Amino acid sequence: MLAQMLQMEFDREYDAQLRREEKKFNGDSKVSISFENYRKVHPFDSDSSEDEVDWQDTRHDPYRADKPTTTPKKGFIGKGKDITTKHDEVVCGRKNTARMENFAPEFQVGDGIGMDLKLSNQVFNALKQHAYSEERRSARLHEKKEHSTAEKAVDPKTRLLLYKMVNAGMLETITGCISTGKESVVFHAYGGKSTNEDDKVIPPECAIKVFKTTLNEFKNRDKYIKDDYRFKDRFSKLNPRKIIRMWAEKEMHNLTRMQNAGIPCPQVVILKKHVLVMSFIGQDQVPAPKLKDVKLSSEDMKKAYYQILNMMQRLYKECSLVHADLSEYNMLWHDGKVWLIDVSQSVEPTHPHGLEFLFRDCRNVSQFFQKGGVTEALNERELFNAVSDLNIAADNEVDFQAEIEALEKVNEDHVQKHGKKVSAFPSDGDPPIYDE
Ligand code: ADP
Ligand code: MN
Repeated sequence: MLAQMLQMEFDREYDAQLRREEKKFNGDSKVSISFENYRKVHPFDSDSSEDEVDWQDTRHDPYRADKPTTTPKKGFIGKGKDITTKHDEVVCGRKNTARMENFAPEFQVGDGIGMDLKLSNQVFNALKQHAYSEERRSARLHEKKEHSTAEKAVDPKTRLLLYKMVNAGMLETITGCISTGKESVVFHAYGGKSTNEDDKVIPPECAIKVFKTTLNEFKNRDKYIKDDYRFKDRFSKLNPRKIIRMWAEKEMHNLTRMQNAGIPCPQVVILKKHVLVMSFIGQDQVPAPKLKDVKLSSEDMKKAYYQILNMMQRLYKECSLVHADLSEYNMLWHDGKVWLIDVSQSVEPTHPHGLEFLFRDCRNVSQFFQKGGVTEALNERELFNAVSDLNIAADNEVDFQAEIEALEKVNEDHVQKHGKKVSAFPSDGDPPIYDE
């Protein structure tokens, strides 16, 4: 853009010089020569109005053409004072009207047939300019339309990445898209052979999560990663593209932690840039339903609840993680149990907002199961205490929230004082993890 602007500036200067030379050359001579053909700036790029003529207030009936006057070879007709050159307003105007035929066919020039229309140079140039930009605009729109389907899925660079995975034999085929979210697109694929890097067996069915490289939606996720001390040193130095890779990386690390703790979740296969390949939860290309979409028997509902309580505890204690987006949307029902997914935003409990996130998770889980008829389901405050062992005594939402924020504050101050080392939250004793 800058280069083009500079070029335009150069061209304008060149043209101005040309005009000066033209003027010098012609002097007062009645017949002048034009250097117009040597100008750099295309007439409809500039709005030069040196030939400015307004709509003629013509004495002629506009519907009846005068007998056509053609400009002879010599460029002018008549004698002495009555000389008519090709710059004559009327001649020029008629010529301009005729030239409108050359505009792009989609451009409506109106019905001028039989009308003696004379377009002034200025009007003609404006129209021409408009026709030209219209043409470019519609070309752009068309282009966009053609790209949109592909764009919704993945950009060319991502497609190349996926193609390479298939080409390397790591994936057999990519069958189609499972989900397009704001921040990611998830594909289903059949696993191929291990690329013998570490002899990891590739699951027969895989889910490919492509983190979207369109940046807008990630802006409001800053708070998750910015305050996560694990990424603190890196965050400020990164460009947006790398930050998106970091989301993918975060999801991978979090899934690995969960895997190690035996929490049912997708198993990481490989991470390449912003593309995370993991095992597919589901079968024969059909993804397992989300908890919100599946109708469980009251027995299964109760089972699911206790399983989630157990998973939340293990996530907190063994993985030192808070899911931070836990709800019936991010839990899948598969093989008679609940699987946790979507952990790119998960943080450690000591994250400056970690406990708030945990409380929100607890609220979602409590509400879902209480509405779902699980009478044993703890309320959100009880659940929070059961997961974190923080034993916050407040018996109402507001006070509870306030105590959570106070705890976070204490922890923040500790971080300020002692650098990056984060103290674990104190807990009284070590109550047993709920065992199914
Ligand atoms: P988002 O950030 O877009 O919510 P998710 O990780 O929740 O991303 O994935 C979106 C959807 O894709 C999920 O709701 C689920 O239906 C499907 N999905 C994601 N990962 C898997 C997986 N490993 N197996 C099966 N389905 C998955
Ligand atoms: Mn999700």
